Amino acid sequence: MTSQTNTLSPTEMTEDHKSVARVLPNFIGGRWMPASTPDALDVTNPANGDVLARVPLSGAADVEAAVAAASAALPDWRGRSVGERAEFIYALREKFRQRIDELAESVTREGGKVLSDARAEITRSIEVLEVACSTPMTMQGRVLEGVSRGINTETIRQPVGVCAAITPFNFPAMVPMWFLPFAIACGNTFILKPSEQVPLTSEITCHILEEIGLPKGVVNLVHGAHDVVNAILDSPGINAVSFVGSVNTAKYIYRRAAEKGKRVQALGGAKNYMVVMPDAVVDKTVSNVLGSAFGNAGQRCMAGSVLVTVGAAREAIMERLKTEAQKVIAGDGRDPKSSLGPVISHGACERIHDAIDRGVKEGADLLVDGRRPKNAPEGGNFVGPTILDNVKPGMSAARDEIFGPVLSVMHVNTLDEAIALVNSDPRGNGTSIFTENGAAVREYSRRVEVGMVGVNIGVAASPAYFPFSGWKDSFFGDLHVHGWDAVEFFTRKKTVTSRYFSSGETGRFFTEQGDKH
Ligand code: NAD
Repeated sequence: MTSQTNTLSPTEMTEDHKSVARVLPNFIGGRWMPASTPDALDVTNPANGDVLARVPLSGAADVEAAVAAASAALPDWRGRSVGERAEFIYALREKFRQRIDELAESVTREGGKVLSDARAEITRSIEVLEVACSTPMTMQGRVLEGVSRGINTETIRQPVGVCAAITPFNFPAMVPMWFLPFAIACGNTFILKPSEQVPLTSEITCHILEEIGLPKGVVNLVHGAHDVVNAILDSPGINAVSFVGSVNTAKYIYRRAAEKGKRVQALGGAKNYMVVMPDAVVDKTVSNVLGSAFGNAGQRCMAGSVLVTVGAAREAIMERLKTEAQKVIAGDGRDPKSSLGPVISHGACERIHDAIDRGVKEGADLLVDGRRPKNAPEGGNFVGPTILDNVKPGMSAARDEIFGPVLSVMHVNTLDEAIALVNSDPRGNGTSIFTENGAAVREYSRRVEVGMVGVNIGVAASPAYFPFSGWKDSFFGDLHVHGWDAVEFFTRKKTVTSRYFSSGETGRFFTEQGDKH
C-alpha cells in the first residue's frame, strides 16, 4: 500500500474530468459522510496492484461524531425487545446468504485469498450470525426465589453501552461479525474501525444494514488507522473495545483502553505448532498440514506455521510433504486454478522474502523455495509455498510470526520434547497433533499452553457456538470471542433483590404458603 496524501473531495471525477479512485465515506448516524480529514491511502488489489478505492485517515472528530450517533441511538435501541433486535440479525444473516458471491468477491478483491477461502469466510460469518440469533435465550439472567422470607434475588443482563471493534486485514468479513451481531443483539450500539487495508467489505455490510432498516446510529463505520484507534481508546463515550490484530498492537490496545476504564478483549498474533507423531495417517496429515500452512497464504492467526515431527514421523512424511507442496499453485484468487493467493501488500511480500533469506542464513534448509513463484500474475504480491527444514529453536524462523506461506520444520525425538517446544513460545493461539493414539492426544491436549487444540485437524478454529481465543501473548483480556462468552462480554450483570408489601404484613403471604406446603 502506498501512503500518499489525498486532498481531493470524495468524488470520482476531478475538475479537469480525470477519473480518480473513490474516497470511501464513513457511515455515521445512518448517513454516508466524508471524513473530516483530507488524508487518504490507496486500497489495492493485492493480486495485480489495481487501486480499488482510497480509504480516508479519519481523525478524532469523526470518532466523536460516531460516538455521538451511537449514544443518541442507544436509549431507543436498548428499549426494544430482545426479539425485535434479534429479528435484525436474522435479516442480516439472510442477506449474507443471498449475497455470498458478492461478499466473497469483495474479500478476494481487497484481501487476495482464493475464492473458496473467501466463501468459507462468509459461511463462517453466517454461522456467527446464526448464533447471535439465539440472544433471547443466551441473554437470560437467573432468579432465586426465597433468598429470605418473601424476598427474591434476580440477576439480569443489560447492555454495556457503546461498543467498538478494531479489526485486522486477514478476515475482512468474518472478524467484524465476531462482534457486531452480539453487541447489537444485546442492546448495545456499535462503532467499527476496519483495517485500512481492507475497508470495502465493511462498506457492503453497512449498506446491507441500511437495506434491512437497522435504526440509524446503531452501527457506525469509521475508516482510518492509528488516529482513529487512539480516539476510540480515549473516548469517554465508548464503554467496551474488541480488538484483533498483532501481538504488540493487542498489548497496547489492552493497556490503553483498560486504563480508560473500558471493558477490553484484545486478540493478538500467533505462531502455531503442528506435531506429527510416528503413527499419523500420512496422506491425510500431509494434506492437512499443507492446508494449514498455505491456506489464505499463511495469513491466518490459526495458520500452522511450525511443523514438529516426532521420531520416525520425519522419515514418513517429509518427502511427500515436499512433493505435495510443489503442486500448490500461486495465482489470482479469482482464478479457479489458483490454490494460493497473493499476500496483502508489497511490503508484506518483501518482509516474507527477508524472513526466508534470514532463515537460510541462520542455517535452515530451503526444502521448497517460493520466492519466485512460477507463472504468478505480474504486479501482484505473490510468494509461493515455502518450506524451511531443520529449523532450530532460537532461529528467527522458529520465533517470528512470518504471516506468509512459509512453513518452518523442526524435528524432535519425543512427545515431551514437542510439548516443551510448543510451551516455550510466548504465544499460544492454536495447535494440532496428528496421531491415532488417544493417550498421546490426552497428554498433549492437557499439557500444551494453547487456547485451541486440533486433533488430526489442521486449523482447529472454534465453531461460532464455542468461545474462540488463544492464551498467553495471543490474548489479552478475560472473555473470549463468540460462543457463550459473547453475551458475557456484551452485557453487564445487575442483581436486584426485591419484596412486596401489598399482600399484607411483610412476608406473611410467603409465611402462610410455607406453612401450608
Ligand atoms: P495489525 O495489528 O497491524 O492491525 C490491526 C488493527 O489495528 C488495524 O485496524 C490497524 O489499523 C490497527 N493498528 C495497527 N497498528 C496500530 C497502532 N500502532 N496503533 C493503533 N492502531 C493500530 O494487524 P494486521 O496486520 O491487520 O493483522 C494481522 C495480525 O492479526 C497477525 O498478527 C494475526 O495473527 C493477527 N490476528 C489474530 C487473530 C486472533 O484471533 N488472535 C485473528 C486474525 C488476525
